[in-house]
Amino acid sequence: MSDCIFCKIVDKEIPSKQFMKMIKLWLFMNLNPQAPTHVLVIPKVHFESFNEMTEEHADVMGHMSLKLKEIAKTLGIDESGYRVVCNCGEDGGQEVKHLHYHLLGGRNLKWPPG
Ligand code: 5GP
Ligand code: ZN
Repeated sequence: MSDCIFCKIVDKEIPSKQFMKMIKLWLFMNLNPQAPTHVLVIPKVHFESFNEMTEEHADVMGHMSLKLKEIAKTLGIDESGYRVVCNCGEDGGQEVKHLHYHLLGGRNLKWPPG
């Protein structure tokens, strides 16, 4: 999608600190980290959020979820623990309208979130 910053990151029009290469996903460090480890995991295919998800996204969503343990292990936070966040819509705090998982770890994360 032409005006989506995450699509531009996938297309390398905007630089990102990519840390692991995957065929269907793009993984990169958050510009404004909220924890010692704060990675964004996005499907290369564009869709806005859970609300726009259709059957055709089931494969990539399953893939993205299955890969989290491998990503966490690579980051060294699989055993200490981590949090996966997917903000949806305005009240969910979604700024970028391209579905993404935040993978946060490296400190004891508080609950409930603000
Ligand atoms: P959201 O609020 O949509 O769930 O999260 C969007 C996240 O993307 C924010 O945490 C923000 O820091 C991050 N972000 C926004 N623009 C960029 C960018 O150009 N590069 C990187 N690496 N992260 C970005
Ligand atoms: Zn996009």
